[in-house]
Amino acid sequence: MLSNLTKKFSNKIGIDLGTANTLVHLSDHGVVINEPSIVTLNTKTERIVAVGSNAREMLGRNPEHLTVVRPLVEGVISDFDIAEEMIGYFINRAEEIEHKLFRPIIVIGIPSGVTNVEERAVFDAAYHAGAREVFLIEEPMAAAVAIGMPVHEALGSMVVDIGGGTTDIAVISLDGIATSKNIKIAGDVFNQDIILYFRERFRILIGERSADDIKCAIMSVNPEIELEREAFGRDMMTGLPKKIMVKSSDIFEATKQSIETLLDGVSEVLERTPPELVSDITRTGIYIVGGGALIRGLDKIMSEHAGIPVHVAHNPLESVAHGTGIVLENLDEYQPILIKSEDHD
Ligand code: ADP
Ligand code: MG
Repeated sequence: MLSNLTKKFSNKIGIDLGTANTLVHLSDHGVVINEPSIVTLNTKTERIVAVGSNAREMLGRNPEHLTVVRPLVEGVISDFDIAEEMIGYFINRAEEIEHKLFRPIIVIGIPSGVTNVEERAVFDAAYHAGAREVFLIEEPMAAAVAIGMPVHEALGSMVVDIGGGTTDIAVISLDGIATSKNIKIAGDVFNQDIILYFRERFRILIGERSADDIKCAIMSVNPEIELEREAFGRDMMTGLPKKIMVKSSDIFEATKQSIETLLDGVSEVLERTPPELVSDITRTGIYIVGGGALIRGLDKIMSEHAGIPVHVAHNPLESVAHGTGIVLENLDEYQPILIKSEDHD
């Protein structure tokens, strides 16, 4: 009886507002939406034509009057109005899936280091979409909660969240972020590296989507894992379509500079972290989350580079979304780590 009652009023939506993907988590269903954070606009009418997966389909294929926008690129909200509409769209979609979601409480994970103005835009978007109450949470914190790290305790926990636009490197202790760094080396940069490499090495032009597909399929930083895949592009000499075989070692060659910068970022945060916290991290290990955590062998080379064990979180693409779900089920416990809209007034 009681469980029925609580179920009926479980008006809770958790959102991971990523630079590459937006995930929506509902307490009774888990992750119900997982779509690219992309919007297609008609430049003539300034109206939104498509959001999410439908918009991604148009990427690189759009006619002139349509433009494809990623409102969160590089972790900052580059276009407030569009970001607001996109957030509203995802909340409405969640409400279509779960009809009971009347005036929900919403927890939204945002990249760490966003400005107050950007936070305000996220609050506004969620309130406009009809939320009763909105809380924001920094994404590495949400990921740490999902992993089960002791975020309330005086113990150091380290999370590296490698997303599309940014990598968030954070050491958490006592409900706060003790040291952190947000770098712009993440999935998008690897894609650009791959596009450049194809141009210089193979004299072939490929688009962003193809680069992303190849990367996800075969990228490896472990020389023992060598995969292979066909890639299609346009031959720069003839202008005609051309097919080539690409190997993991090509992708490694293309991205190794960026990978090195990423590893240096992790070391730099460790160097700035108080020794007591570092010794905690040495015991528990660093956890990597986000799509970049799926790069084959990254845990191994990061561990060698940092001299600390590194673990890939379970289901790393969904860690932040699951974290928002856990926070929503235990709102009292997690108050200290949440950003509230009153904090802004
Ligand atoms: P964000 O939180 O910024 O939205 P995500 O955590 O969803 O980003 O990660 C998206 C990024 O992860 C994209 O750049 C995607 O290409 C990349 N990615 C996903 N799977 C893999 C994989 N197997 N290997 C390498 N990169 C991957
Ligand atoms: Mg993310």
